[in-house]
Amino acid sequence: MNIDELYQTIILDHYREKHHVGLREPYEAQVHHVNPSCGDELTLRAHLEGDTIADVSYDGVGCSISQASTSVMTDLVIGQSVEHALALYDDFLEMMQSKGEISPDENRFEDAIAFAGVSKFPARVKCALLSWAALRDALSQATSKES
Ligand code: ZN
Repeated sequence: MNIDELYQTIILDHYREKHHVGLREPYEAQVHHVNPSCGDELTLRAHLEGDTIADVSYDGVGCSISQASTSVMTDLVIGQSVEHALALYDDFLEMMQSKGEISPDENRFEDAIAFAGVSKFPARVKCALLSWAALRDALSQATSKES
């Protein structure tokens, strides 16, 4: 299996069996993001306990890349600090804008490495970023409510 096939397999696995899917209570912020260029839509809720992301739940429709990206993102951020999630967002964004130039750190990104392959296709980059942009929006709303 070459690297592109590996990436594709990871994405299809998450698309077929989405992790943490469904909208759950409690939550401090709910956002709705769309990617009109592809037709992807995502409703996402964030639940914080102090500085920790206790839960991220979601419901979405769209292409395999946007759906798989959401599933992978929840694996990476649930149970982590808000600060860690935002740092991951920055690094993921940098990778997605690199047109395949940045090789991801597997220890840090886990299954999100699969989207390094997507970064070579500018039309699909927005699909991969949709869930992360929604997460950042929800976290900023949730943290501003607390203070
Ligand atoms: Zn899409």
